[in-house]
Amino acid sequence: EWINFIPYFHRIIDRFELTKNQNVSFNRKLPEYPIFVDIDVDKMTQVLDNIISNALKYSPEGGQVTFSVEEEFNFIIVSIADEGVGIPSENIDNIFERFFRVDKARTRKLGGTGLGLAIAKEMVNAHGGGIWATSEEGKGTVISFSLPYERSEEDDWS
Ligand code: ATP
Ligand code: MG
Repeated sequence: EWINFIPYFHRIIDRFELTKNQNVSFNRKLPEYPIFVDIDVDKMTQVLDNIISNALKYSPEGGQVTFSVEEEFNFIIVSIADEGVGIPSENIDNIFERFFRVDKARTRKLGGTGLGLAIAKEMVNAHGGGIWATSEEGKGTVISFSLPYERSEEDDWS
């Protein structure tokens, strides 16, 4: 389904902003102009729900979560950044594996099965995109994914 990703992403962020019960502030860096992508909306919503839930789950009191969308060649890059506990560099690629969880003791009390990011990866790959993480322990984590984006000639003119 072809949809304008920007208002769609805003609606998802709105839903989390209205229901969160933590002192975490949201910062949106989304373009003002439309970006049309061909996606499975239900699956993309699951991807974003998983990533945003993690960002909130691992955020400290008073932390900020930043949402951004950038264009790069024929892709858009969607990023969700938090100021949480971070992920040790030796585990940064493992977090997309099924049932992988950093520090079993820490994550046990926060709940979850370790499937969220494995599912997100599968769904992003099915859309022709990639997913990756950058993180600094004690400072925060950025989860980014790309989606193919066919810039139309009209877009180039505007
Ligand atoms: P589930 O999503 O199935 O409820 P989960 O959140 O533990 O469980 P994933 O979403 O797959 O599983 O994440 C895997 C692991 O990666 C997490 O257990 C956590 O250790 C680490 N992780 C994921 N996102 C973050 C983040 N934003 N900050 C710090 N650690 C993270
Ligand atoms: Mg999760």
